[in-house]
Order: sequence, then structure tokens, then C-alpha cells
Amino acid sequence: MEKEKEFYERLESKGVSRRDFMKFCTFLTATMGLSTSFVPKVAEVFAAPNQRPPVVWLHFGECTGCSEALLRSMYPWIDELVLEILDVEYHETIMAAAGYQAEENLHNAVKKYKGQFVCVVEGSIATKFDGGYGKVAGKSFLEIAQEVVPHAAATIAIGSCASFGGIPAAAPNPGGYKGVGAALGMEGKIVNIPGCPPNPINLVGTIVNYLLLGKLPALDDKGRPVFAYGKTIHDSCPRRAHFENDEFVEQFGSEEAALGYCLYKMGCRGPETYNNCAVAKFNDGTSWPIEAGAPCIGCSEPDFWDTMTPFYEEL
Ligand code: SF4
Ligand code: SF4
Repeated sequence: MEKEKEFYERLESKGVSRRDFMKFCTFLTATMGLSTSFVPKVAEVFAAPNQRPPVVWLHFGECTGCSEALLRSMYPWIDELVLEILDVEYHETIMAAAGYQAEENLHNAVKKYKGQFVCVVEGSIATKFDGGYGKVAGKSFLEIAQEVVPHAAATIAIGSCASFGGIPAAAPNPGGYKGVGAALGMEGKIVNIPGCPPNPINLVGTIVNYLLLGKLPALDDKGRPVFAYGKTIHDSCPRRAHFENDEFVEQFGSEEAALGYCLYKMGCRGPETYNNCAVAKFNDGTSWPIEAGAPCIGCSEPDFWDTMTPFYEEL
């Protein structure tokens, strides 16, 4: 009870009311595909955590956009909530340690929490030339991943680079970059949260699922949580309503005019892309690319950089 009181006081001091927090928990519960009866339990995971799993967050071939998307989220406190429920032992972007001290932190955390820590990987792994296309502290990304990932209780690949190779793996891919699962031969054992960058709500949902239900969420055949990637962008797109709804067709004057509101002819990859952007939205639920007039470029699909280009040409 004391823990919970302190938690709400901390949120209050950051300008977040209990009501805002409960609204967020309701939204998160719905995003995770759970019934509203789970809302108090989801709130409890944050407010009175009975476990804070240690986390090792590795950075490989990437732009740090996934960390930025989380830390600079327009929900000004999503990052605080994540840090509230996790014990981040190693994260190159936010930790104070550098050089030898940082390396020591990583090795100590893996040794101390063997089989218990959650590993989050951001970025893809160079596999050609002994991993020579990507190194940290003299070790290749591949060596580091081999030393850390197999000892984690669960591994989450955050972003399209870590999930499927992303832009570093785009043709001609001289370094032989691959997603974490493919580089380590662990496909199907790693949760992929693709997107360039992914919506932070999908990472939070995966972690809360793990803490609340004691297991990782159900995954599709590409290792993505079904709660977030179970439907295509096109399935939930509001622009679709304009040519499928009689009222809109009437408003636009003809079916053809209503169809013009859809971005398909501008190259929209919504019909081939699995993600929940239309429902989760970005920037505190303000908008999302298609709502803002930009066609979907398929950023959460494997090899989107090669298979979805040229982006603005019709499929
Ligand atoms: S804008 Fe894209 S996702 Fe939306 S209806 Fe058109 S093709 Fe489908
Ligand atoms: S709308 Fe498409 S390209 Fe844009 S973030 Fe969502 S999945 Fe990625």
C-alpha cells in the first residue's frame, strides 16, 4: 500500500494525475487484447510491482531511433513507467558508465542474473567477415550477442533492424547484416517488435504481459506479438471506410470520389503490412502516418527497404 502511495505521489509530482494513469492503463489493456477486468491488475504491475526483472539492453547496427521513440515519447511518462517496472542494468544510451566500467557492468549483469534477465536488442548483427562490419569494445556484435542472448530468460528484438535486419541489411548488404533471431539461429525463440521505429506501447504491452501473466504474448509466424501485429494496417484504416460506407460515398458524390480519399494509388502498403498504428497511434494518440496523409511504407515487414520500394508507386 505504501509502495502504491509513493508511486502515485511520484506521478503527481510529474504532473500525471491518477486519472491520466488509469486512462493509460485502460488503453494499454485494450491494446494487449485483454478485457477491461484486467485494468486494475495492469495498474498494479506499475504501482506495486512484486518483481522488477533485470534488463540488459544491447545496441548493434541501428540509429537508436527505437530507444528515442521510447524515451522521447509524447506520453511524457512512458519511459518513467518502463524504468519503474524494470531494473535496467545495462543500456548504452542512458547509463552513466562508459568504457571499461560499462563493459564490466554488462559482464557482471549477465553473470549475476544468468537465466533471469530480460535481454532487449536494438539493431541488427553483421555476420560476414567474422562480424567485422560492427564492433563494440573490440568485440563483434555477433560475439556479444552469442555471449549474452542465450543466457537471458527472454529476449525482445526491438525495431525492424533487430527483428529482420532492417536498413543495415538492405541490398547489397555487404556486412551480411541479419536480425537477431536469424543471426543466432534462434528464430521463433525471440519476440520481434518491428517498426521503424516501433510504437513504444507495443514494447510496454509485451513487458506487462510477461510480468502480469508470467509468459510472453502469443506470437505470429514472424515472431511478432499477435495483439499488436494480428491485423493489417488496411484492416483498421479509417480511410477504408470512405469507399466501403454508403454514407461516405454519398457525401463524396460517387464511389470513385470516395476511393480517391484512400492512399493506395500513392503507394500505400497498408494491405500488406501487419501493425496496429491505426489503433495505437503516435504522439499521445494524436495521429498516425495515414491519418496525417502519408501512405504506409510497410516498415514493420521483413526486408521492407527492398520489397516495399519505390515507396510512392502503386503496389
Ligand atoms: S490508405 Fe492504405 S491502408 Fe488505408 S484504405 Fe487505403 S490502401 Fe488501405
Ligand atoms: S503506418 Fe506503416 S510505415 Fe507508418 S509506422 Fe505504421 S506500419 Fe510503419
